[in-house]
Amino acid sequence: MIFSLDKLPAAAHGYRGRFAPSPTGLLHAGSLTTAVGSYLEARRHGGEWRLRIEDLDPPREMAGAADAILATLDAFGFEWDGEVEYQSRRHHHYRAALDALVASGDAYPCACTRKQLAEHARRGVDGYVYPGSCRHGLPVGAAARAWRLAVPEGEVAFVDALQGEVGQDVAHAVGDFVLLRADGFWAYQLAVVVDDALQGITHVVRGADLLVSTPRQIALQRALGVPTPAYCHLPLMVNAAGEKLSKQTLAPAIDPAAAAAELRLALSRLGHAPPAGCETLAELWTWARAHWDLARVGAGPVSVA
Ligand code: GLU
Repeated sequence: MIFSLDKLPAAAHGYRGRFAPSPTGLLHAGSLTTAVGSYLEARRHGGEWRLRIEDLDPPREMAGAADAILATLDAFGFEWDGEVEYQSRRHHHYRAALDALVASGDAYPCACTRKQLAEHARRGVDGYVYPGSCRHGLPVGAAARAWRLAVPEGEVAFVDALQGEVGQDVAHAVGDFVLLRADGFWAYQLAVVVDDALQGITHVVRGADLLVSTPRQIALQRALGVPTPAYCHLPLMVNAAGEKLSKQTLAPAIDPAAAAAELRLALSRLGHAPPAGCETLAELWTWARAHWDLARVGAGPVSVA
């Protein structure tokens, strides 16, 4: 192991899950459904459920969103374990991870501009595939802008609890991806891997939009020598146009005053329609905790229109 892990108490019953919203907007039907699924899956295993605010990208964040997300989760009756973590307070951990990767020869500086990539790179599963221009050294006189992981050749495969077998040749589909961005901010891929490892997360339950990122995260875990958690990617919530619900697609914010109705909807979208007579938040949670079964959750997108 080249990256030393903090001493953390072992996860209760071997299961520690988490919900990790980015405060770029308020909770909407998609993020609420992810919270519900990850929470119930953790509780069904007698496990812990942690909260992590992924506030790594200030230009995209909305003032007050982190507090509003926490207040909404509280109004819904979610009970999280431990202190809420904020990525904005954890930069030293990301720095330590990058230093370890540089020392082991797994990370390298890159001087390429977006314009150069647009001219020379082909498109992959998530933007441009980095053509490896700076892998063997910066051009003479060029300064480092970003830092990248030198991704090994070969397929990264894993079994997702809902989506089944997933495989991706990261080197071919994505290329050497960014760890520290040219604008000086830490990349999501690095921060999420470092935090899941340091926080002892054993099970990652999140939206299927992130399935494309998981092989990158596993490649990074291998480079850092940290464990790979179990993954479960919940069905994507889409609008009438088939687009993922998000701030960009103008998904409306959840109204905490309508929490019981919203919780009922979220459970139904996850294949757990509560029976008539389950009306209050307390009744819905009691029923959901007793009946939650991943086998009832579909894998494909759910229309929320
Ligand atoms: N912060 C990410 C998001 O809000 C989720 C990260 C994760 O669950 O790994 O989309």
